Amino acid sequence: MSLWRYRERLPVEPLVTLGEGDTPLVPAPALSQRTGCRVFLKLEGANPTGSFKDRGMTVAVSAALRDGARAVVCASTGNTAASAAAYAARAGLRCAVIVPEGKIATGKLAQALMHGARVIALHGNFDRALELVRELVDRHPIALVNSINEYRLEGQKTGAFEVVDELGEAPDVLCIPVGNAGNITSWWRGFCEVGVAPALHGYQAEGAAPLVRGAPVPDPETVASAIRIGNPARWEEAMAAITSSRGHVRAVSDEEILAAYRFLAEREGVFCEPASAASVAGLLRYGAEGTVVCVLTGHGLKDPDTAIGRAAAVVPCEPTIEALEEAVLGGDPSAATTDAPAADGVARV
Ligand SMILES: *Cc1c(COP(=O)(O)O)cnc(C)c1O
Repeated sequence: MSLWRYRERLPVEPLVTLGEGDTPLVPAPALSQRTGCRVFLKLEGANPTGSFKDRGMTVAVSAALRDGARAVVCASTGNTAASAAAYAARAGLRCAVIVPEGKIATGKLAQALMHGARVIALHGNFDRALELVRELVDRHPIALVNSINEYRLEGQKTGAFEVVDELGEAPDVLCIPVGNAGNITSWWRGFCEVGVAPALHGYQAEGAAPLVRGAPVPDPETVASAIRIGNPARWEEAMAAITSSRGHVRAVSDEEILAAYRFLAEREGVFCEPASAASVAGLLRYGAEGTVVCVLTGHGLKDPDTAIGRAAAVVPCEPTIEALEEAVLGGDPSAATTDAPAADGVARV
């Protein structure tokens, strides 16, 4: 199954698909306990290239192919580049991606390069890259697949369909990170199309929070590279969606983002990328009530450097059983067996 099960609500035929959408919606018991809400996580990292961008890209590249495009282009903080490169490869289209120099997570760069895209490192930030590609497509017949492309939003609205179908009703609250603000706009469109209206709680990183401040941020800075955006393209629509839903857009610090990132990995068994954890950081800081869905937009493997830089050290070990015992048990002989079931199947704690 894929998001194309909603094809009657999508504007094109699935000409280019890798089985996107239909991602897991998993209960989050540790988060539920901490917040007093009934919390679910929508694991968008389970999409083919590891982020929700695939929902929009399958539709946008299908439309580009239908319309006879030969090449696609995008500005990207990383995930749009990885997704565009994969779908262009599949469609036999040329692809160029413009990324901020030195600011793209390692996994995303590896994907874009492996799929054969021309990767251009702009000596400038994402906002400048987007301005420039808009000019570029005015001059050349190349399809722009950023989320200013309507087909991207059409594909991304299917996340809302899936959540409502799976829960059997709307959640009370949707927590979602906000960068260029295309995704929050898409989710609202999806909810409106099925006639429900959960409160949208959008979260930006403190150093890249133009919607919260009400003014563009000239030099956005945050560890959450996917939302390091100072002048969102979907500004007005996102604010309209947030207001109509009686929701809010608020800021979370990098420290809060990284704490949520670790909590999800250590307590829920879910490894997302830092930007995705902004949704949970916001829930933890500002709270909510009722049934809450947090959208975890991208997979943790996208950004191994941030993970390894913040995680515990690897334990070195000589190749002897004594050294291995010491390494595994760390001086505490019960450490490795505390929660393991005994032979009778009963855990000894
Ligand atoms: C693109 C992206 C976002 C932000 O989505 P927008 O539509 O730009 O607001 C958040 N998280 C991840 C992982 C992303 O790739």
